[in-house]
Amino acid sequence: STPDRVTPKTTTTSNGMQLDYEKRIDSLLNLMTLEEKIGQMNQYSGFWDATGPSPKAGEDADSKYKDLKKGLVGSMLNVKGVAQIKALQKIAVEDTRLGIPLIFGYDVIHGFKTIGPIPLAESASWDLETIKKSAENAAEETAASGINWTFAPMVDISRDARWGRVMEGAGEDPYLGSKIGVARVQGFQGDDLSSPKTIAACAKHFAAYGFAEAGREYNTADIGTSTLYNIVFPPFKAVTDAGVRTFMNAFNLVNDIPATGNVFLQRDVLKRDWGFDGFIVSDWGSIGEMTTHGYTNSDKQAAELAVKAGSDMDMESSAYVKELAQLVKEGKVEEALIDDAARRILRVKFELGLFEDPYRYCDADYEKTVVGKKAFHDDALDMAKKSIVLLKNENNLLPLKKEGQKIALIGALANDKTSPLGNWRIAADDGTAVSVIEGLAAYSDNTVTYAKGADVLTADSKLSFAHEVTVNETDKSGFSEAISVAKTSDVVIMVLGEHGLQSGEARSRTQIDLPGVQQSLLEEIYKVNQNIVLVLTNGRPLAIPWAAEHIPAIVEAWHLGVQSGNAIAQVLYGDYNPSGKLPMTFPKNVGQVPIFYNNKSTGRPDGETNDVVFWSHYIDESNAPLYPFGYGLSYTSFTYKNLTTQKTAARHITVTVELTNTGQVKGKEVVQLYIHDKYASTVRPVKELKGFELVALEPQETKTITFELTEAELGFYTGQGEYIIEPGEFDVFLGGDSNAKLSTTFSLD
Ligand code: BGC
Repeated sequence: STPDRVTPKTTTTSNGMQLDYEKRIDSLLNLMTLEEKIGQMNQYSGFWDATGPSPKAGEDADSKYKDLKKGLVGSMLNVKGVAQIKALQKIAVEDTRLGIPLIFGYDVIHGFKTIGPIPLAESASWDLETIKKSAENAAEETAASGINWTFAPMVDISRDARWGRVMEGAGEDPYLGSKIGVARVQGFQGDDLSSPKTIAACAKHFAAYGFAEAGREYNTADIGTSTLYNIVFPPFKAVTDAGVRTFMNAFNLVNDIPATGNVFLQRDVLKRDWGFDGFIVSDWGSIGEMTTHGYTNSDKQAAELAVKAGSDMDMESSAYVKELAQLVKEGKVEEALIDDAARRILRVKFELGLFEDPYRYCDADYEKTVVGKKAFHDDALDMAKKSIVLLKNENNLLPLKKEGQKIALIGALANDKTSPLGNWRIAADDGTAVSVIEGLAAYSDNTVTYAKGADVLTADSKLSFAHEVTVNETDKSGFSEAISVAKTSDVVIMVLGEHGLQSGEARSRTQIDLPGVQQSLLEEIYKVNQNIVLVLTNGRPLAIPWAAEHIPAIVEAWHLGVQSGNAIAQVLYGDYNPSGKLPMTFPKNVGQVPIFYNNKSTGRPDGETNDVVFWSHYIDESNAPLYPFGYGLSYTSFTYKNLTTQKTAARHITVTVELTNTGQVKGKEVVQLYIHDKYASTVRPVKELKGFELVALEPQETKTITFELTEAELGFYTGQGEYIIEPGEFDVFLGGDSNAKLSTTFSLD
């Protein structure tokens, strides 16, 4: 029998005092049936159009709608816009017995409607304030559209450029990844989660998704515990300490146990050791997928093992809503586990202020004034410029002169207003980015002649999130026009690389070169004009050894979002001096992958044995990357000198270095500090980033930069998860990339 409808007004005491959240949750849980508690743990994707269940949403739209009316849905994803959200919230609040509001999640990965640079690009700025601001803007715009929770940031570390999702992360380094993860969480959540300008963040994917074998999407991660604790966990731990309110688990197996059913990851590490008190949402259908993995034999067993492992909310597999109540009745799952999961979800809803006003994110007039507002576009331009990395600039080909130049602009991506938006931009419209053609036109009086040269994708590629794209491998019919334009120009700007939908989820590649016929186009143009500026647009590191050797100027422009063309033009013309640094190693060859700077020394490092054949090496390629982690040039030059270390306390080393701008223009440099713990009970990497600072300098100006190395930087995790600091000698390196050579040593007792 269904109990009468009640409202949770009992959460206010008789004398009008507000009880704290936990007491209010206690009283609410007391009112809830088992099914209603399980309902909080159930999340459905949008199944609704303006008036009711949408036929487009699949055959189960009706049954989902019925579940919602019965109070068996706690959250929805993929619903956007105040009108829709308000309608659904109204059902939850007015038609269900307890009127518990829904929490609405959405993949706001690099902007909601106003798309900024992809996260990997933003990470290349190493500019934490600007990254935070970009998340803050995304939160404001998202919240104005009715949504209160983003499935971001993705803090998966990855060393494998084949994996399409590297575009969503901060690259290969746990220290940089932690700082950027925290900046994003602070930007999304702000200081007050209940403000209508902030949204809950979600650290994903816990864990080791970025270690998918061979970079193949959804593949198993076989990973030692030392790497897990020292490389994979740090950004997750850092965002937990910074108060991230939700986590998402992962599709992959971690050492043969699905992350979604993993007690060690979710209960032991996250909830027990790190004290996380928010909730964990499964990845899409990942509870049900445990059966496909061969870990469970049915949805029922999957529900049992997932809830026991600490997965609190079921995204779209329906296993919880269908199976959990029965499992409790059979005594296979303790009701206390359901209470705990429901409590965690209700806690975040309270913190978001949804119980005070379930429609607090639902003001249609406000939505109109905020979504797409100019300030977001201005900030997106700022972020985009800061994300660009200058990879090569021989003979000062860049910056370009603003007048008197005949410029050939070549490459389909130069004339593309959608590709720069990158992947994961589901609320944004196609064609809303400023193209490179448009950007260049606005910045100079030069004559710019455009010739496509070749398409990157075939015409029948479906440019949507759900479809695979096909690459143009054959059509070179535009080459001759491009060659003749190049012949008669002073400078050729070639915009080549990946289309925005060639990276992202389910977009792994085995070749990470310039897709299709673009390499051949580049070589043909080079034959007639070597004055080439190559602008790369891509969502992952690319292996472009030929270009790196022959092309005089190379600019890494990723997928920069709505302001892409403007940002690129400002950098090419020197109105903005680039300061980005690679957050991920660029290999020479896909065969070097995984390649990363913080590797361990073999017993036979390069050149350190008399017997040349028995080095650690390939016989057909060097071990060195094309461009190392942390690398990036400027239109000015910097020198580092006078590196000092001082032991300020037993476990506190102060490091200083002098940085001088030795060039002609002002510029910014990311000063990077790396350490090497020379002998340890668990072998430490040859270099580990432990500090960085973005420093602005006028020409000829010198600044002294100070770093403090404390317990947080000097130790490491054992394979058992214990954080220790060992005595002994350390190297410290300072410089503008991970090849930093200026070094000294210090010792700990
Ligand atoms: C992805 C998640 C995403 C979810 C919801 C999944 O396929 O792995 O990162 O948040 O879908 O869209």
